[in-house]
Amino acid sequence: MTEGLTAWITLIFLATCWVYWREARFQEERSTTASAAQTAAIQSAYIAIGGTVASFVYRLCFILFGIPYVMEHGRAADTSQLSLAIVFAISISGGLLLIERATRGISLHAVDRKLKLNNTSLSLFAVDTAKVLLVAAAFGLPLVAGWIWLMETGNEHWWVGAWILWFVILTIRMLAKPQIETLLFSTTSDLPEGALRSRLESLLKRSGIDAASLRVTQASKRTRRVNASVTGLGAHRRIFLHDTLLEQLSADEVEAVVAHEVGHARYKHLGKAWGGLGLLGLAGAYAIAQVIGRAQLEPAEAVGVLLAAYPSILLSVRPLFVRISRRFEFQADGFAAMQCGPGAVQDALGKIFAANHGVWDHHWAYSAVFDGHPSGRERILRLQQTHS
Ligand SMILES: [Zn+2]
Repeated sequence: MTEGLTAWITLIFLATCWVYWREARFQEERSTTASAAQTAAIQSAYIAIGGTVASFVYRLCFILFGIPYVMEHGRAADTSQLSLAIVFAISISGGLLLIERATRGISLHAVDRKLKLNNTSLSLFAVDTAKVLLVAAAFGLPLVAGWIWLMETGNEHWWVGAWILWFVILTIRMLAKPQIETLLFSTTSDLPEGALRSRLESLLKRSGIDAASLRVTQASKRTRRVNASVTGLGAHRRIFLHDTLLEQLSADEVEAVVAHEVGHARYKHLGKAWGGLGLLGLAGAYAIAQVIGRAQLEPAEAVGVLLAAYPSILLSVRPLFVRISRRFEFQADGFAAMQCGPGAVQDALGKIFAANHGVWDHHWAYSAVFDGHPSGRERILRLQQTHS
């Protein structure tokens, strides 16, 4: 099984590097005026290749050497499967998270700092990294322990229980995301009293969204980037506006941004993503159980291999999610245009792209694999076509 798995992971790795490399070349070819945005996009693509190489080498070392070594010594010392699985979860997933954070840190230093967008100090970055690791451990370790327990029962349908446990933890995580965000990563406040707040509250009210779900985050403590997002499910849903967005956009543009986020809520995009993920997870659990059964892996070994292969599994299904996400973005833009007019949405997009030094176009392969949002050009074009 190791040969097949190694070949598949290598193939996904090479394809990922090719996509990033094509994106870098695409921006280089267009960078006749050497805009800061294109330079940043080129650097980001090369940094991403570095992160991809580090993650690939780390995971391959575990599959070829780390997992067989730990399993062999575990057998000799009669270590429980649970202890071995915890060792794999901490070393493989913890290590991969650290590689991801290191890549992010390099990107903040090399790209965002030059664009004067980074406000995250090194100490704040280190504290955030520790928090990210703690949150991952709080959700991940009980999941791994549950999987081992289910596999050790010897029941051939263990994978159904494994899927249910994963889905329950995913649901808790999605429900708690706004609270985790507020509690650990940024302080939030109400929108200041005034004309803008009344306008936004009326928008929320006529769209059937609770006005209290709108929060302003003190994002400027970490970044000058302008952004807004909607997270959580049902009554736990929150719309977050970066404080930088309120500083830099006009009232009409802020209303268009909030209307876009409300559009996501109205069309139940997060709920649909949750359901879709659940179904895909069920199919994945069945397929993984077949592979584990055929290769006759011990429970801890199966968990180790799964954790090492996980980023490749995620990358293989990513184009599907990106495709759906892009459709959701167009729908949310359409909703915002209906509420505030296409002009306000276009102006807001223009200001956000300018403030974040975003590029308006990407290579098609990069868009298909990594860009959950359509490019700025596609979004403006769609607004012009459907609302002219
Ligand atoms: Zn959106």
